[in-house]
Amino acid sequence: MKKKIAILGSTGSIGTQALDVIRAHADKFEAYILTAGSNADLLIKQAREFMPDAVVIAAEDKYQYVSDALTDLPIKVYTGEQALCDVCQCAEVDMVLTAMVGFAGLRPTVSALRARKPIALANKETLVVAGEYIMAEAMKHKVPILPVDSEHSAIFQSLVGDDVNTIEKILLTASGGPFRNFTPEQLSAVTPADALKHPNWSMGDKITIDSATMMNKGFEMIEACHLFGVSPEQVEVVVHPESIVHSAVQFEDGAVKAQLGVPDMKLPIQYAFSFPQRLAMQDNRLDLFKLQALHFYPADMHRFPCLDFSYKAIVQGGNMPCIMNAANEVVNLAFRRGEIAFPRIAEIISETMQRATFSNSAELEIYFDSDREARRIATELVNK
Ligand code: NAD
Ligand code: MG
Repeated sequence: MKKKIAILGSTGSIGTQALDVIRAHADKFEAYILTAGSNADLLIKQAREFMPDAVVIAAEDKYQYVSDALTDLPIKVYTGEQALCDVCQCAEVDMVLTAMVGFAGLRPTVSALRARKPIALANKETLVVAGEYIMAEAMKHKVPILPVDSEHSAIFQSLVGDDVNTIEKILLTASGGPFRNFTPEQLSAVTPADALKHPNWSMGDKITIDSATMMNKGFEMIEACHLFGVSPEQVEVVVHPESIVHSAVQFEDGAVKAQLGVPDMKLPIQYAFSFPQRLAMQDNRLDLFKLQALHFYPADMHRFPCLDFSYKAIVQGGNMPCIMNAANEVVNLAFRRGEIAFPRIAEIISETMQRATFSNSAELEIYFDSDREARRIATELVNK
């Protein structure tokens, strides 16, 4: 029996690599549902190759175009936000890969959990915004959440055979992004094009900017706390420019287990699909003899304040990580559009965190209200 996978965000960086994994193991996996935001042409091409049961194009103005292009095939075509939630509940689906970007992933993830679908989680923003709620839903419905983020996959792989209760700390590695050694003066002059050149990974634009500000590492710290039940003090960010050690766990007896490999998202994607098995993979071999050296440095929260905000947000709890995430989505896009300078990213996030209404509740609807309010405040600050 093939595992039928619903891929939310099949046209993105993670989505297309997930399809590479499925293509390489077509005897084991099937792309049963494909969804995209607005990239209709690629979605159509993928649908013609993988012959899913259904596709969803979130952008409603592209529905007719997609539907017309697939009329000769027995593929259902849907559109809109609700359809993204509905397809996750389809009885035949065995696993949902959440590879869409940002807060938009929250509702479909909740929908999948309620339908008891195991989640391969790439969409880290969902755990940042609503980690407590999501983990409680997963527990309530007895649904596994398998990490796709390379660091969390490395931690997960390091924990196989060990008890999570014996974790002393998690060593969360970070490449440091393209501006690792920049002075504050240099940082104030960087352009979107500079920020989009990640030294080791080729990823979607949003996460590439989050890597340059290190907000991504802050998000990953929060993600690790929720996935592995550790406190923020137990997660230490280690800057490791080579991106070979994908993260590590230090246990109570002092043992450190890590997962190493070349930087390639296909392995964590495939591992989430095949766990607890490992499947063959070509062309991703680490040659220790070719490595010059591996370096490790502490993170500089002063130069990269977004990392600091993440520790503050999770310690404060409630809707604060949600507020931080919403502000970040606004400024990340504003920076990419050339509307604000790089240092404004952190300033606006900080100010939004101070101004938005704090709530200690972990209710789903609170997150939607907080997301709206924080976006409004951050947008005002961008336009000021
Ligand atoms: P991407 O921008 O390349 O792709 C995003 C996908 O989601 C596209 O298919 C897009 O059409 C779809 N999408 C975007 N907005 C949508 C919306 N509102 N409704 C429906 N669909 C929408 O992004 P990515 O780099 O593949 O990242 C996806 C997620 O995985 C993010 O949460 C990111 O943080 C996480 N992640 C990515 C990487 C990576 O290497 N790219 C690594 C770790 C984690
Ligand atoms: Mg990562």
